Amino acid sequence: MGCGVEIQTERPNDIGYAPKSALEKEFIICQRCFRLKHYNEIQDVSLTDDDFLKILNGIGQTDGLVVKVVDIFDFNGSWLPGLHRFAGGNNVILVGNKADLLPKSVKKNKLIHWMKKSAKDLGLKPVDVFLMSAHKGQGIKEVAEAIEHYRFGKDVYVVGCTNVGKSTFINAIIKEFTGEKDVITTSQYPGTTLDMIDVPLDNGASLYDTPGIINHHQMAHYVDKRDLKLISPKKEIKPKIYQLNEGQTLFFGGLARLDYVSGGRKSLTCYVSNELLIHRTKLEKADALYENQLGELLQPPRPEQLSEFPELVAHEFTIKHDKTDIVFSGLGWVTVNEPGTKVVAYAPKGVGVFVRESLI
Ligand code: GDP
Repeated sequence: MGCGVEIQTERPNDIGYAPKSALEKEFIICQRCFRLKHYNEIQDVSLTDDDFLKILNGIGQTDGLVVKVVDIFDFNGSWLPGLHRFAGGNNVILVGNKADLLPKSVKKNKLIHWMKKSAKDLGLKPVDVFLMSAHKGQGIKEVAEAIEHYRFGKDVYVVGCTNVGKSTFINAIIKEFTGEKDVITTSQYPGTTLDMIDVPLDNGASLYDTPGIINHHQMAHYVDKRDLKLISPKKEIKPKIYQLNEGQTLFFGGLARLDYVSGGRKSLTCYVSNELLIHRTKLEKADALYENQLGELLQPPRPEQLSEFPELVAHEFTIKHDKTDIVFSGLGWVTVNEPGTKVVAYAPKGVGVFVRESLI
């Protein structure tokens, strides 16, 4: 139950600790899961990336079906590069989760086509590709049926970066088939699942929820835990359209910045959390505004975080194709419809910034 860790009652500061009294309960969870569940509070853990990698490496040695879950809102950031190393020769099903965040007008088939093409470009050939919303229970049955179809009676490994919604997905499957609710701990904090969670399937095989690899390029690592809610959208994103003239700048809170350098008057569409404030200003005033207003008008970061908040790094792009997204990993993206535009995109040092063929 909970995060999959082995329960111990001796060392309160180590992972898996639960007080002895917890052992009498029907469903035993560790203290960390208990706090997360009841107080929405996170305790830092002592598992390293190497520990996570060791667990995942075991998958390559086994014979089973790999279900790779990505966050469609942060497709590239949550991609988990090098999956072929973990997958070995096993089949992979690719599932884009959090489809509920995209505007309803977006055609599902177009998105699936886009995912297939992007997967191929990134070196992965999945046997099938799906879109779902684990949170809303959309597309779960379809994915569950595909798993049954492609696993040929073998084990199933659900893999992905932290926070893509693996645990929510497995909970949704368990609920669909057993009626049991919230068996696995989920939260908005990256890295909730600590060890393989084994869900028995009806023929003696298992479905495993694996701990996710922490994606260090994610914006989530640079914002205060309290602000995660603000940058991770919870609802359908309402795109915001800006008619920009050359020499104008958009700030996304204080986390990212886009300078529109040249290309004539154009409309740019922003896909970010509805709660994140976008502030427009003149390029010539942008540096001073950032210096004076970071942590104030331009939040997040919070004022008390300024000393450790990384500086923004500039990435220059000349848009060469129709319909291009400028992506800020984990924060969202800005779509430019026509080529011939020059922009400079800024994000905290370490956060991925890149351009791609438009998702929408
Ligand atoms: P895991 O680390 O991959 O196991 O991810 P979790 O299942 O713990 O989910 C991480 C966060 O994403 C939680 O805040 C979930 O509520 C949220 N989440 C999961 N699935 C969906 C989804 O389909 N749509 C949306 N909007 N949020 C989701």
